Amino acid sequence: MNALRGRHPAPPFDAVLSAQAFHETWLATMDPVRFGQWFRRQRLDRLIATATRDSPLYARRARGARVLGDFEPIGKHALMRHFDDWAVDRRITRAGAEAFIDAGDTIADGWLERYLVWTSSGTSGMPGVFVQDAASLAAYDAVEALRLRSTGPAGPPLGLWAAGRRFAYVGAVGGAYAGHVSVARLQRIAPPGWAPTLCEISVLEPLDDIEARLRAFRPDVLITYPTLAAALAGRTMDDRRPLRFGEVWLGGEQLSPTQRASIADAFGCVVRNSYGASEFYSIAFECRHGQLHLNDDWVILEPVDADHRPVPEGDFSHATLLTNLANRTQPLIRYALQDRTRFVPEPCPCGSALPVIEVQGRSDGALILAGRDGGTVTLVPLAIETVIEEAAGVTQFQLICRPDGTLELRFPLQGEDARQAFGRCRRELLGWFRRLGVKAQRVVQGQGEPLRAAGSGKLQRVLDRRSAR
Ligand SMILES: [Zn+2]
Repeated sequence: MNALRGRHPAPPFDAVLSAQAFHETWLATMDPVRFGQWFRRQRLDRLIATATRDSPLYARRARGARVLGDFEPIGKHALMRHFDDWAVDRRITRAGAEAFIDAGDTIADGWLERYLVWTSSGTSGMPGVFVQDAASLAAYDAVEALRLRSTGPAGPPLGLWAAGRRFAYVGAVGGAYAGHVSVARLQRIAPPGWAPTLCEISVLEPLDDIEARLRAFRPDVLITYPTLAAALAGRTMDDRRPLRFGEVWLGGEQLSPTQRASIADAFGCVVRNSYGASEFYSIAFECRHGQLHLNDDWVILEPVDADHRPVPEGDFSHATLLTNLANRTQPLIRYALQDRTRFVPEPCPCGSALPVIEVQGRSDGALILAGRDGGTVTLVPLAIETVIEEAAGVTQFQLICRPDGTLELRFPLQGEDARQAFGRCRRELLGWFRRLGVKAQRVVQGQGEPLRAAGSGKLQRVLDRRSAR
């Protein structure tokens, strides 16, 4: 570790910014209405002032914009195309960032002495490159420690800082992905004697090997995707030596109620879910009532329709505009995320005034099928999952729409188990399709394991291959 520190530039960390972010986040956690809203206004004003002055891209696009609603929404493709005009630090170029990422084992090092660089997995067809400054990392650290890892508004923070705890991270470890880079950074910046014991395992390894490594390492906390935790839970249920964790921290994919119950049951543990993105690491955290609270002092979300107009309160959106209030180096103002979200109008029983949101994952995962009467029927992943999980009683599956329109179901099961799961899923799906008015549909059982996305290793439970090029 010390040899590493000597050779490599330190990961970005600023003690003063960090103390300030912790203090402000603590105040806003205690009183979101009074302090949270005040910080949010301040940060938004500073973000708009900096971006329109120092980012050539935003200076061009702003055209007199002064308030958030004046800004035209922007997507990943446009930002990547104008990458060299985007950041306020003019040394930040796409060629430079990509060369840094390609250098491989240096991912947690400070790029240009002061930034972290991570890439998004590219579920929308193009990977994004996001540069994080010390201020935004301080904000993510504060939110993670004081909200996500806390046992309650006044409870003790149980962050990665906790010395002596053993963490296993099973995720995408082969590239500059946000989770992997963040875990590496936290380990490097921990004070001597405080670094957690960490084991990183690639999600692309066979499940047998992942399980064997977890057994050998015996972590207190497992950090991974819902589908991976659910797959492990399914195996451990009828095991004589079940895997046990104190906590399972989940993110990166949608978590269904059925998955949550089976994970908590199987491991006899606390399940903590979160919602984040490469564009903002910790968008929302889960409270003890299982609700996702938006960190709206640090990030603004706007649920919008396909034309980027606001949707009625309480409705699920088609996409979501994100404004990152923490990162003024590479500003994100009304950035279009492909997630369906909604604000829940009812207050949460936990008492927090931070807004409650629900997330339906990627809208490009929705399946559009031909209707009986000539039109189309849109099936959102959550609904498909509900039919297969609740009605057919199958928790691990993948539904692939082949290029010819045939629906293929895959399961991480063998022989008779797979055949029975397929029979139940097919019957429930076809019954549901009839009720929805979907045109007669071929549903077949696929061979082999469910497919994971190249690179990130994420498992999309609904995959439309008709648009694959
Ligand atoms: Zn709550």
